[in-house]
Amino acid sequence: MVELRNVNKWYGDFHVLKNINLKVTKGERIIICGPSGCGKSTLIRCMNRLEEHQEGEIIVSGVTLDDDLKNIDTVRRDIGMVFQQFNLFPHLTVMENCCLAPVWVQKKSKKEAEAIAMQYLERVQIADQADKFPGQLSGGQQQRVAIARSLCMNPSIMLFDEPTSALDPEMIKEVLDVMVDLARGGMTMLCVTHEMGFAKSIAHRVLFMDAGEIIEENEPKEFFDNPQSDRTKLFLSQIL
Ligand code: ATP
Ligand code: MG
Repeated sequence: MVELRNVNKWYGDFHVLKNINLKVTKGERIIICGPSGCGKSTLIRCMNRLEEHQEGEIIVSGVTLDDDLKNIDTVRRDIGMVFQQFNLFPHLTVMENCCLAPVWVQKKSKKEAEAIAMQYLERVQIADQADKFPGQLSGGQQQRVAIARSLCMNPSIMLFDEPTSALDPEMIKEVLDVMVDLARGGMTMLCVTHEMGFAKSIAHRVLFMDAGEIIEENEPKEFFDNPQSDRTKLFLSQIL
């Protein structure tokens, strides 16, 4: 579903992604962790071309991400993304946030888009807030709306960039519950997170990055119980 071959990226002179190789198959759930500034966000943002890579290949659902705008468009329709800061449109209601892309990008009728949105809002247990504006909701509620909004586009892959790190502790669980539900439904997921309980319960693989490289990857139990590199050990000792 997602394949990266020898991907390298620089911000000016700064080599932010170094020879990244990664293959994600359908239904696979990958957790990406590592210290601040190691390139986690940059890596997943390259997968829907929010960032450009300079070397190597990124192929998403059979489409190669390069300068071809049509390819970028195709990939973005197939890949949903949820950010740390929710990124909802503040001047639109929850329902309007969810219907915007289905109506404008997928050319669905307003009625059809609303019916689909309602299903997903119910799934994330926020249907009763559909007419509110994002500013009237808690952080956890806004993040659940952001997830529902992504799902309305019926993506085959979901990217999450620290979806719970801006939330108060009591709201983290409600968002993780939604993500666990999504995982159980078989969604292909790549998630940057330091929620290790969540990683253990849903991940097929955990990747550890440091200084732009994937240093270590393993299935979760092995990764946490038996980290191989000193950098991974140090990192885990700081977060666990
Ligand atoms: P965090 O855990 O803090 O979110 P991260 O692992 O997601 O960190 P990135 O945001 O991918 O890290 O950033 C990787 C490195 O690239 C950092 O050193 C950052 O300062 C740098 N960087 C990120 N975006 C840019 C940019 N647009 N221009 C220049 N440097 C950037
Ligand atoms: Mg980041």
